[in-house]
Amino acid sequence: MLNVYNKTKSIKQIRNCFPSLAYTDLVYLDTAASSQTVDSAIKAVSDYHYNYRANVHRGDFDTSSTASDIYEQTRKYIAELIEADEVEIAFTSGTTHGLNIIAEHFANDPRPVIITELEHHSNIMPWLKTGRKQKDGTLVVVPASDNGDVSIEDFTDIVKQNPNSIVSFLTQSNFTGMCLPWQQMVRIAKEHDCEVILDVCQTIGHKPVSVSQNNIDWLVFSSHKMYGSTGTGILFHRGGFSSITTSYVGGGTLSFTDFDHYELQPDFRRIEAGTPNVAGVHSIGAAAKWIQEITYKDIQECEAEFFNMLFDKGLFDIKHMKLIGPVEPRSVYSFVLPGINPSDIAGLLNFDKVCVRTGNLCATPASRRYNQEGTGVLRVSSGPYNDEHDCVKLVEGLWTALEKMGYKIS
Ligand code: PMP
Repeated sequence: MLNVYNKTKSIKQIRNCFPSLAYTDLVYLDTAASSQTVDSAIKAVSDYHYNYRANVHRGDFDTSSTASDIYEQTRKYIAELIEADEVEIAFTSGTTHGLNIIAEHFANDPRPVIITELEHHSNIMPWLKTGRKQKDGTLVVVPASDNGDVSIEDFTDIVKQNPNSIVSFLTQSNFTGMCLPWQQMVRIAKEHDCEVILDVCQTIGHKPVSVSQNNIDWLVFSSHKMYGSTGTGILFHRGGFSSITTSYVGGGTLSFTDFDHYELQPDFRRIEAGTPNVAGVHSIGAAAKWIQEITYKDIQECEAEFFNMLFDKGLFDIKHMKLIGPVEPRSVYSFVLPGINPSDIAGLLNFDKVCVRTGNLCATPASRRYNQEGTGVLRVSSGPYNDEHDCVKLVEGLWTALEKMGYKIS
């Protein structure tokens, strides 16, 4: 054991909040792709369908008012979670949707956009779609470092060369698993008058993110990575949405229309066109509330305790598996397996209900950077619900799989 933790909730207590895990022998280690759903967030979806099934902001009857109240209450919960004002929160379908809205907003902006080599496709393609390119300098890419993050020196040099630009990056790489020094990066970007966009979808389920303490301009994340249901996400914009337009307009977004012109609502309503994913919004609200009740401290300590188990069991010493980055507690551990296709290993683990992810993980530039063979990585990603049983099944499963494929493991 590396550390002794003093948390108020045990992993078992947290695991019991997740019906998909509490009553099964599933070894779920793909939380970076999608977490499991917490019981209160599942209940929020079923409560909506059983008890408050009506459209929001449209009905003159109690059921619709209740559905609308819970929908707006969620805006408050999310604002509290990230220390924002509720008028700065808009509901989207997820991180990808949010990043597309942002890239569209900056489509005609002459300033260069700075991203990192580690970005998920959803923070690359929307910029390319609006005509930016690395080769003409409208898209500037901070190189990834050997240990799976970006160096502050490289980032600072690039920001110094491109002051007053738009800086958009992830806070934790879903590919390498490494957390970027994002608070420092935001500070440096702001010192050089940059507009800052953060993709926190790998962080928000594990660690606190405060937009006010960090002077962030835009922020995006998804419900399904923070224990809520799928199809809902958050777009934060400092100061609200009065200056933002998207290519989606329609019901709910306008204050006036005739057949010649329309006027948009002055606030987040201009982003939320049409009938929203009401059940999904109720669900992300319940998930945010659960995180605040459990506390990020306990979530992190459960994950660190799981790291200790993995460490003691020998995950980081397995021959043929090279961890990207240092051996230290985090929620994502990615391994390069020279000469081995990680997908073959994952297929064998699957026979034992052990779920891990392999391949390029929607981050092909990062994948090329760390594995020339093109087979990507084998990624183990945990949540506060992973326990000793998961650790043993994983590590012993990896030993068996490698041996079955003819590799000596010691
Ligand atoms: N950014 C990062 C860092 C991600 O890990 C993901 C999901 N894997 C996304 C963006 C896209 O999120 P979503 O699919 O929920 O839109």
